[in-house]
Amino acid sequence: MSVSNTIKAQMRESSWIRKMFEEGNKLRGIHGNEKVFDLSLGNPLLEPPPSFKNKLIEILENEPAGSHRYMPNGGFADVRDSIARNIRGETGINFEGNDILMSIGAAGGLNVILRSILDPGDEVIIIAPYFAEYTFYIQHNNGKVIETQCDSKWCPDLESLQNAMTNRTKAVIINSPNNPTGVIYNSSVVQSIADILKKCEQQYGNDIYLISDEPYRKLIYTDVKYPFIYDYYTHSIGVTSHSKDLGLAGERIGYISVNPADENRSILMDALTFSMRTLGFVNAPALMQKVVSQLQETTVDISVYRKKRDYLYSKLIDIGYDCVLPEGAFYLFPKSPIVSDEDFVKNLQDNLVLVVPGSGFGKKGYFRISYCVEDSVLEGSIEGFTKVFQHYKNKS
Ligand code: PLP
Repeated sequence: MSVSNTIKAQMRESSWIRKMFEEGNKLRGIHGNEKVFDLSLGNPLLEPPPSFKNKLIEILENEPAGSHRYMPNGGFADVRDSIARNIRGETGINFEGNDILMSIGAAGGLNVILRSILDPGDEVIIIAPYFAEYTFYIQHNNGKVIETQCDSKWCPDLESLQNAMTNRTKAVIINSPNNPTGVIYNSSVVQSIADILKKCEQQYGNDIYLISDEPYRKLIYTDVKYPFIYDYYTHSIGVTSHSKDLGLAGERIGYISVNPADENRSILMDALTFSMRTLGFVNAPALMQKVVSQLQETTVDISVYRKKRDYLYSKLIDIGYDCVLPEGAFYLFPKSPIVSDEDFVKNLQDNLVLVVPGSGFGKKGYFRISYCVEDSVLEGSIEGFTKVFQHYKNKS
């Protein structure tokens, strides 16, 4: 067979999401679309706000010659300046255009970062449960995946993090608000992570990067002040996108922001720009750069997602499920009522409700629900969630 053994193995490992997708299609074929309650995909439901279309038209109607040509690999200078101005306002930190690199979503940004900092065998720490694609991004870019654990509130278990650090640790990836738990790391959590990394930098004499993956940063349902990593740790890199906050997942637009306090930021930025080019991305989509640079203070109506969270969370708690209340993103990560999350998910599936087992996120015994779906799908799923929960309760 001509496909690489590595990719074959990775495809086997990533089979959960694909499997749920295939199962969903099969069930829809048999029972019809409206009878199947698919809560397995994190595909943003909300359409981009009206200002997106208006800006797009305005830009197209007024564009100067050359707007669709090749450009600097990091993105248009005016776009980077404008994004920098905006995060300066958000963080109070002195970002400049040169600290920003426009990327192909957060996914593209993460690959550019990892490609730029990893040598073969360098270790990258991730915290379970995690966005499953991290493992492949790390492996594709020569790194070794090191998994650490969370505590019962889905915050990083600091002892587990401390114990995982070695002289080969090159980066730690955090993700807040989190996929799959929806949890936001507060400032004391971020401070503790920064303290561990600083201590290890001194102990091993290496730079260790803290990479903050933030595609849900603007999907927050509490008054919590978001703790930006730059305030806590010098060797820090943020990466975000507008897939969720502007509903532009298909347009593939985001950006990387390098801490202006990093003494190596100029060489790091050169490396990121080089990787952007040579990974074949070349540059982020031109038109989308222009549009999002003018929509930095706009989001989809997040109260819609918040209402869905409130509805589903309270229903699940009433049924008897055990779940941490998510403060952001659009996922719930409840405990499976039986040890095997996979058996539980299969049983739910037999009741036409589709979710993803925690195993797909490196955390057995739980399952992920994506609530960025129509209300009718949420409402229709309650019967299945109730029936399956009762089934196991009656057995115990
Ligand atoms: N990181 C996390 C935690 C995600 O959940 C996703 C997408 O679901 C991504 C990164 C990639 O998002 P995008 O490349 O669309 O910005």
